Amino acid sequence: MQKTSTEKSKVYFKRISDWTSVETISEALTSLWQRMETEDFIKKGEFAAIKLTFGEEGTSGYIKAGWILKLVEALKQKTENLYILETNTLYREKRSNAVGHLHVAHSHGYDIQTVGIPIIIGDGLHGRDSQNVQIRGEHFEGVKLAKAVCETDAIISLSHVTGHMQTGFAASLKNLGMGCAARAGKLMQHSKTLPEVTVEKCVGCGECMKICPANAIGIKKKKAILVKERCIGCGECTVVCRADAIQIKYDENVVKMQQKMVEYALGVKRAVGSRIACVNFLCNVTKNCDCMSKAETPLVPDVGMIGGFDPVAVDKASLDIIGVDTFKKAFPEVDPLTQIQHAEKIKLGSGQYELIEV
Ligand code: SF4
Ligand code: SF4
Repeated sequence: MQKTSTEKSKVYFKRISDWTSVETISEALTSLWQRMETEDFIKKGEFAAIKLTFGEEGTSGYIKAGWILKLVEALKQKTENLYILETNTLYREKRSNAVGHLHVAHSHGYDIQTVGIPIIIGDGLHGRDSQNVQIRGEHFEGVKLAKAVCETDAIISLSHVTGHMQTGFAASLKNLGMGCAARAGKLMQHSKTLPEVTVEKCVGCGECMKICPANAIGIKKKKAILVKERCIGCGECTVVCRADAIQIKYDENVVKMQQKMVEYALGVKRAVGSRIACVNFLCNVTKNCDCMSKAETPLVPDVGMIGGFDPVAVDKASLDIIGVDTFKKAFPEVDPLTQIQHAEKIKLGSGQYELIEV
């Protein structure tokens, strides 16, 4: 897993010609993993997480439960504490709390009966279970990760590659950076402005005032008032408000958002250590990510899977194989190489790789 600074990261590539057979895809993933796996990646009894996203209701691009079954069986031989890890969404739909999230997972074929391992929503019922991890990045001194991420021993990140309106390209760096953040962490990546109270929606319950660490919220005439001079933008109030009365602006620019996202991925590496493996699925590559509740026509033909232990190299190889221009054409105002360049700058990994066909 460790390499010297002069070595290229090893990236393993498995072509798949038949995407109609669940069995074939499941076998392909396992053979890719067997080629990648090192003896000490998971030790007996350790907590190991398969990090993936179940997709929004109505999307078709997510990683299918049947595709991972053989990998799950192989990993269960190593540890009984294997589980699927996901976090709540920032936007308020079913997956923004753990209960709704598990219902969507179930409707997409994921539960303990079908996959054989439990699902843990790593930032808790409402996305508030977080832990600060120091990174000393350019944008963040520390990041707010889902608590379960910080308590796990190893992560196998499985990512469905898509385009993305704010990051241009969504794969391993996004699955780790955005996907392992608690809701407040997702807010800090998406927004550069402070939350605002919509007075008409506020019911004056005072929950936001109780949770605010900066004493920046008061209640006057049964309405919350946010004092901007005191607010530190932690996002806790947006999570706790059940009336959806504290609004977020998704206004971070596309360069800074990518940079912030990879700083969060660095936080995951700081929390978990080197035992992070990544596999990108280069199939059904759509313009938008799986958070969109609609099926889309793929931008390119299905290709295969790419895996390795350096998320930067795995994502760069995926971009090279699909073609960076595919994503630039989809979102001309976003350069997806920004995330690779910043990840290299903060020493998360390297875009230089050696491609090994499996
Ligand atoms: S938690 Fe929401 S509804 Fe309750 S006081 Fe705060 S803003 Fe108003
Ligand atoms: S974002 Fe954080 S600091 Fe600002 S008002 Fe909300 S809870 Fe308080």
